[in-house]
Amino acid sequence: MTRAVSSDGLVGRGMTEGAALFRGWFDRLTAAAAAGSPTAYVFVMGSLAEILRVFDFELSFPEINSLQTAVRHVAHEYLNQAEDYGYSPDICGYVKADIAVQLRKGAHPMGTLPPPALAVATNACNTYVKWAEIWERLYHVPVFTLDVPGTRRAGGQTWPGHPDFEADRRYVAAQIAELIALCEKVSGKRFDIDRLRETMGHTNAMTAAWKRVIALNQHTPAVFSALTEGTVYLGVANGFRGTREGRRYFTELVEEMEYKAARGLGTIDEERYRLAFVGVPCYPIFRRFNDMFSEWGGVFVNSTYLWFASGGADLGFEYDLEHPLESLAEGVLISVRHAMDGMFHQDRAIAGILEPFHIDGVVFHPIKSCRTVSTGLADSRRALMARTDIPSLFIESDMMDKRVVSEAQLKNRIDAFFEGLASRRQAHTSFGRV
Ligand code: SF4
Repeated sequence: MTRAVSSDGLVGRGMTEGAALFRGWFDRLTAAAAAGSPTAYVFVMGSLAEILRVFDFELSFPEINSLQTAVRHVAHEYLNQAEDYGYSPDICGYVKADIAVQLRKGAHPMGTLPPPALAVATNACNTYVKWAEIWERLYHVPVFTLDVPGTRRAGGQTWPGHPDFEADRRYVAAQIAELIALCEKVSGKRFDIDRLRETMGHTNAMTAAWKRVIALNQHTPAVFSALTEGTVYLGVANGFRGTREGRRYFTELVEEMEYKAARGLGTIDEERYRLAFVGVPCYPIFRRFNDMFSEWGGVFVNSTYLWFASGGADLGFEYDLEHPLESLAEGVLISVRHAMDGMFHQDRAIAGILEPFHIDGVVFHPIKSCRTVSTGLADSRRALMARTDIPSLFIESDMMDKRVVSEAQLKNRIDAFFEGLASRRQAHTSFGRV
């Protein structure tokens, strides 16, 4: 059971304020829809928020809008509408929920979402590119696709100073210059480099704090659940990137997590097993999914989702504000590449956290809707198992579609996993006593 301590108002503040920020954000989007204010549709992996905020675009994240329909248990209404309209049951559920929102003229459980004036996608997921084309057809708005060079081979990333990296950085910088010109055209506003420095400064503080928050979960007991609380923090990291509010939120979140770590306050009452989560959460039964683990004393202390769904912000890349444009290109390249690595080289990513986070087991959660993240997971698991004898669980469901979420089946598999973890621990303990 999740611990709820609030004696001095500090513990749990990140959750309360995160929810309040979310409500305020959707209220702003609703107001933008009514006023016709220019809104940019962006994605979590490479939102380019620092640039777009310079031109005062409201930011709408269709992935986040879509997952909210699942958390609020109405996703099936949206999925059915998109399927009736002609979209295949097999494509990404986020796309279908968004299409239904567009067909409903922005009507969403949290307000009314404005249509786009501009859409910005990256190549981090191939669905992004095709999804943005749908808005292009629906609204005849410009779509900007940023092509970020990814890792050519596992472990083969290059870094500043290497000729390949410098070529990649110039390639990204040239595209950012094109985006700035497009933003000037769409918004009718001149680019202001000092405002860019300001938004980048806010992002610097936020990403440093996000990295610190994740690192604080190396403490036993874990100070937050990467699956439940972590998803709320992640939402703020995306929606408020490059803003003063986001900076303040994360500064305070570090304070809360340090307070908990110093006092040994965990996120659940009795932590027995520390787990890593690989994949995308099961939003249709979001709380229940986590409870099936926490009832056994299992806590998700880290996840690849916290990395890739924050666009690689977990790296804590710090922009050089003396050279904002060059540094923005470098930061986007390194962070989005890292986000892609978090999806495509998950075995390597997880191997690096097993020891520092004292992981007892790894949960792989491939989902029907998201081929980008799920396709390689069985191989990732095999590769991880070849490196280590850490126990793992492989369970399948979906992040949107409750038709393919079988709670009873999941529970059987999860219970058996914990029984295995318990026997293993007992065997180790007995062996230690001999
Ligand atoms: S990463 Fe997966 S969930 Fe996200 S847009 Fe791509 S296919 Fe959909």
